[in-house]
Amino acid sequence: MTTTRFAPSPTGLLHLGHAYSALHAAAFVERGRGDRFLLRVEDIDTARCRPEFEAALLEDLAWLGLEWDGTVRRQSDHMEDYRAALDRLEALGLLYKCFHSRKELDEALSAPHYRPMRGPDGPAVTGTDALMAEDERSRRAAAGEPYALRLRMAEAVRRAGALTWSDRGHGKQTARPEVFGDVVLARKDVATSYHLAVTVDDALQGVTLVSRGEDLFQATHVHRLLQALLDLPVPDYAHHPLLVDPETGRRFAKRDRALTLKALRESGVSPAEVMARVGFGP
Ligand code: GLU
Repeated sequence: MTTTRFAPSPTGLLHLGHAYSALHAAAFVERGRGDRFLLRVEDIDTARCRPEFEAALLEDLAWLGLEWDGTVRRQSDHMEDYRAALDRLEALGLLYKCFHSRKELDEALSAPHYRPMRGPDGPAVTGTDALMAEDERSRRAAAGEPYALRLRMAEAVRRAGALTWSDRGHGKQTARPEVFGDVVLARKDVATSYHLAVTVDDALQGVTLVSRGEDLFQATHVHRLLQALLDLPVPDYAHHPLLVDPETGRRFAKRDRALTLKALRESGVSPAEVMARVGFGP
């Protein structure tokens, strides 16, 4: 039995690219077999997510004819689950506090003796705690200044050993989380990060097949490592290509206002036409 999911972030209106992604996930589900399609609202980024976009995405998906099983999981309601995962990693001695602001980190990165590799999310920084004088770290800690929690990547990889994961389109993959450096698992402003929340949620929700866009393919290396460190089950993955608008040759994005599902609906386009347009026609 397959449990798959669609996990949008309510930072704008859904567009054709989202419709494709949601339909891609739902297409793996055969209800007669007991498969499940879940919907998760990924709203940890409180500065960018808005309740009206959550309401709009529920409306858009229902209009498209998608039916999800059970209740919608909203990440911001489950911060204690991410805290528990951080506590486990902390107990393993794999986390450290990073007090640097972005600007301070950029300055440290420009020092000639510290040249991290480029990772999928930017410079793959390591050991940022050692880049700040001990007394400055203590001062900031005593003053209650905010910090991010980073994973000690080299130690985490050593602990987890060799890992693989499987993608439906690309086959067996060897996990290479080290290309990310010491990833942030809890941000300064939010007490978790995308990588941690998505990994914990997929496990807690019993997701067996993670369907999502290829822009998140690399992130799966980190998720696989977190699964190993937290003793979580390992789902299969199905990363889909990002949909390109044949008219412009560009990927659909939130800036394409005219191609939001809401705008299409209001201009009289039917759900069947939207489905056909993204390749899920009859
Ligand atoms: N919330 C993410 C997004 O909207 C997707 C996360 C995932 O599917 O793993 O891009």
